[in-house]
Parts: sequence; C-alpha cells; structure tokens
Amino acid sequence: MKFSQSRSDVYVPETGVAPEAALASVTHLCLAAHQDDIEIMAHEGITTALDVPGKSFGGVVITSGAGSPRTGDYAKLTDDQMQDVRREEQRKAAAMGRYAIQIQLAHPSSLVKKPGHSIVTEDLVQILSGCRPEVVYLHNPADKHDTHVAVFLRCLEAMRALPAERRPQKVLGCEVWRDLDWLVDTDKVALDSGKHPELALELLKVFDSQVSGGKRYDLAAMGRRSAHATFHTSHATDRMAGITWSMDLTPLVNDPTLSAEDYTVAYLDRLRADVVKRMRAFS
Ligand SMILES: [Zn+2]
Repeated sequence: MKFSQSRSDVYVPETGVAPEAALASVTHLCLAAHQDDIEIMAHEGITTALDVPGKSFGGVVITSGAGSPRTGDYAKLTDDQMQDVRREEQRKAAAMGRYAIQIQLAHPSSLVKKPGHSIVTEDLVQILSGCRPEVVYLHNPADKHDTHVAVFLRCLEAMRALPAERRPQKVLGCEVWRDLDWLVDTDKVALDSGKHPELALELLKVFDSQVSGGKRYDLAAMGRRSAHATFHTSHATDRMAGITWSMDLTPLVNDPTLSAEDYTVAYLDRLRADVVKRMRAFS
C-alpha cells in the first residue's frame, strides 16, 4: 500500500495483520478531513464494528494536520512537530476503538481544495478499490468548513471513478461543523452514537492537542449527540441515547450526472417549504 505523500501513514492496530487484509475486511469506512473528525462523525460505525461479529471499521484522514491551531503545551511546536503529534493521537484513537486500519494520507489542505482528478482523488480510489464497504461516512456538502467540503468533493470524485459494481452500498454525509438538525425530518438519517459512551468520550479526549487549549470538542460532541436524541421528535420517547445526524448521499455516488450542488440545495428548498407551510397553516 503506497500513497503519494511521503508522510502518509498506514497503521493496523492488530499485530500480525497485513494492511491489505485489514483494509479488505472493512465494512464501515470513514473518510474525513482531519484527525478527530472520524471520532466526531462516525461513532456509529466504530461501535457497530465492536458489537456486531463480522463487521470492522476503517478510518482515513486526508489532510496532514499541519496548519492546526495550537495553544498551551503545543504553542511552540513547529508545523512538522504538530503533524507528528496529531498522527500519534489518531493512531491512539484507532487502537482504542479497535479499528481494522487507520490510514493518514497527509495531504496539505491547499492541495485537497484543488478541483479535478488530483493525487488526492487517486489515493482515495486506491483505498476504495481495496475494500467493499457497506457504509461510508463522509463530510456533508453543507458543512461550513472549507476543507470538509473540499474533502467531500474529492471523495465523491473517487467513488464515481469506481466501476458501478464496486461503489459502496450506502454513503452518508455527517455533521461536524454546522449541525444537520436543520434538515426536515424525512431527510434526516439518524446515526446511533449513544453506544459505548465511556469509549466515545475517551476517543474524543485522545486528541489532547485540540482539546487541551480550551476547545472542548469532547464535551461539545457528546452534548450535541444527547441534544439531538432528545429534540428529534416532540412526541416519541428517546430510543437512542445519542444521535449524529447525516444525509443520504448514495444517489449522488450512483448517478454521476447528478449535480452535487443541486442535490444539496434541494435540502434547503425542502426546509424552506417546511417553514412556510407550518406558518401558513396557522396564519
Ligand atoms: Zn475537521
């Protein structure tokens, strides 16, 4: 397994398993922009692999973490040192969550943002060609982080480049920066992120370089999951202890003629129609 960046990293937590075999076993795959995004987005996939025999989880981080903010103990680190710290943190999470494989492609964000069939897309095609995932967790196209949206677009290019029979069965766009609570209920796909709550917190806290400066992503992600579980319908009792909202992106992958922009804006149109309808009903 060889990727284009010299700093790319392939880690298989279980000893004695070859990377190719580990990747081939993956049933739940998350393709994310940064170290810690996987643990915020795809807790459902991580815990499914822990709880269901025959399922296994794989994580891919696409950027290098070079430009990440740093405070406190990390304030004096150079970009190179920071990349090393973040790579180790992601490896720790993979070991703790018993991922089958953790790949870190170490691309600069600027490269990820370049449209077209770049080396980023080629690396992703290589990964997707080495496994047959049932579910792929991506960033969603309405996220407000530029790199997340660019990563989503590169992932879409890569999946569309696969032969139709090799494309993943289900592709979901998950919330990180900007919740998906605004989706109308019929557009929401709930990911159960309430299982293994102690592990969930540990997986978020392992990213000490991000959390220790006061940005409590660990508490924020856990709180958001609980809030979504409680507020998702006004009548039902809570069936899940935590929810991560996502949108179904499978149609975009299966039909390369479908515009990603039109597909995304249609969600906004349905929100608008929902708000207008409810107001008019009582005016
Ligand atoms: Zn991110």
